[in-house]
Amino acid sequence: MEIACLDLEGVLVPEIWIEFAKVTGIEELKATTRDIPDYDVLMKQRIRILEEHKLGLKEIQDVIATLKPLEGAVEFINWLRERFQVVILSDTFYEFSQPLMRQLGFPTLLCHRLNVDERGMVVGYTLRQKDPKRQSVLALKTLYYRVIAAGDSYNDTTMLGEADQGILFHAPQNVIEQFPQFPAVHTFEDLKKEFLKASNRELSL
Ligand SMILES: [Mg+2]
Repeated sequence: MEIACLDLEGVLVPEIWIEFAKVTGIEELKATTRDIPDYDVLMKQRIRILEEHKLGLKEIQDVIATLKPLEGAVEFINWLRERFQVVILSDTFYEFSQPLMRQLGFPTLLCHRLNVDERGMVVGYTLRQKDPKRQSVLALKTLYYRVIAAGDSYNDTTMLGEADQGILFHAPQNVIEQFPQFPAVHTFEDLKKEFLKASNRELSL
């Protein structure tokens, strides 16, 4: 049995915080783990900025609802789900992903949770577990699934390494160079071909 694990942001949908920053014009929200490597420091900064701008979960979801999956992503995930069981492994939050997941037809998603108070303001977050993407692949392997995984960035590389076959998709050049063991592709058509190559079944486009 085979299962496909996909990263969400950068693979199927745009980077949610970056898009949210663009739509709201709040420049500070564009910071990512590349600018502030400590995730907890970064998240606390984001939560502080949301509070300052009086943006609660409802306002955030309204903005995110205007975002669209990447061009070709809906067709790709439908294609993939006809051939594999598909699980999305993401470092986003359920509360943020909802409007985009709706447009993708709600595939199974394992990610984190936001803590929201009675005012509807984001006050914290709960990580599902440490190294969540790799742990999920490990867990699927204990169910005797063969795992094929695709992702775009550093936070995917332990997942790609743990999978029976990892694929880089839309990855920046430095990630591609640092992880030459993974094939790297940039279009959904090529990603489909990599999934077919990685499969041990006779599948076709
Ligand atoms: Mg990503």
